[in-house]
Amino acid sequence: MIYLDNASTTQIDERVVEAIIPYLRENFGNAGSLHKLGISNKRALDRAKEQTAKFINAKPDQIVFTSGGTESNNMVLHNALINSTVNRKKIIVSSVEHDSILRPSAFLAEEFGLDIPFVGVDEYGQADLDALDSMIDESTVLVSVMMMNNEIGAMNDVRLIAKMCHNKGALFHCDATQAAGCIPIDVKEINCDFLTISGHKIHAPKGTGLLYVKKKKNFIPMILGGASQEFGLRGGTENVAGIVGFGKACEIEKELEGEQGYITRLKLSFWNELNKQMREIGLGDIIHDNAGSGISYGKVLSVRFDGVDAEALTLMLSSKDVYVSAGSACKSHEQEPSRVLTSIGLTPVQARSTIRISFSRMNTAQECAEAAKVIAETVKQLHEM
Ligand code: PMP
Repeated sequence: MIYLDNASTTQIDERVVEAIIPYLRENFGNAGSLHKLGISNKRALDRAKEQTAKFINAKPDQIVFTSGGTESNNMVLHNALINSTVNRKKIIVSSVEHDSILRPSAFLAEEFGLDIPFVGVDEYGQADLDALDSMIDESTVLVSVMMMNNEIGAMNDVRLIAKMCHNKGALFHCDATQAAGCIPIDVKEINCDFLTISGHKIHAPKGTGLLYVKKKKNFIPMILGGASQEFGLRGGTENVAGIVGFGKACEIEKELEGEQGYITRLKLSFWNELNKQMREIGLGDIIHDNAGSGISYGKVLSVRFDGVDAEALTLMLSSKDVYVSAGSACKSHEQEPSRVLTSIGLTPVQARSTIRISFSRMNTAQECAEAAKVIAETVKQLHEM
């Protein structure tokens, strides 16, 4: 198997599995219990808070553990509703945000009358900063712009965006779900008010993640329950095993921070190899990098093959044990062409001939070279049909 769908999810690191197992077996207590088993679970949560905080250069009490990126993003948007006033009821989001930003935005606009304009993106998928600067004004309560796009890998200058927001008294949220593990994340340097991380994109289990909250005064919990759970910021018995795994994954990623360039290098050498293979089979002119001239960082490569149906290609590759995705995984069962791809100027036909190939530190150069060969052969088969 060659797994190149790491923007959808990643394989759990074996060290993470090992860290989790005791909390599924003998150490199964409730972190809220007073007895020894409870205390040891509470300690495990405290340790995970430190590990996750260190990963993004935050303080442990600025971390709220959640069930993942979707919940963190929803929390931020619903908090913007609560923080909004008669004079501040505008939320600005980029047009290529994940659905867990766009759908709550649409909900808040429809149900509560909030003004939620979208800021557009350029041909590379980066937010239009001049337009954004002129959209932010004294009526803006929140701006949400992702660090790295999940379909094309475009990066935004989130430090500059945070400055723009604070100049006008608006809060800034950054969805760093896809950037985590690819580039260092430092909330102090970005100076964001909120930041989202999802565990399963960095080799931790699914159903884990965090929301960084700079100042608690800007945050009202959405889930009320046990007052001591997550310092009262998110009710519910804590998913200790998952959180322990997430903490361990953050610790590993922090240790590997200096080696993160590996993923981008792997992607570039794969891209060169794929082009070579396509030229060798006489189809060098039908392959295109949707991100243009190598502007995408991190793990995502968005590639289109003229005249080839992406869904058919994805399924054929799957039958050969090479796993990629047609568009983004969350949307792969939908008929509509990807909104992100059409936002950067692709036609619906071009969007439907796009596959997303995404890498992780667990991929090897050898398997990537092998995948390039299989992909080129499969494209040829489909092109000849
Ligand atoms: N934001 C981005 C940019 C994502 O790519 C994803 C997952 N595809 C999410 C948020 C949602 O994260 P989760 O799967 O943890 O809910």
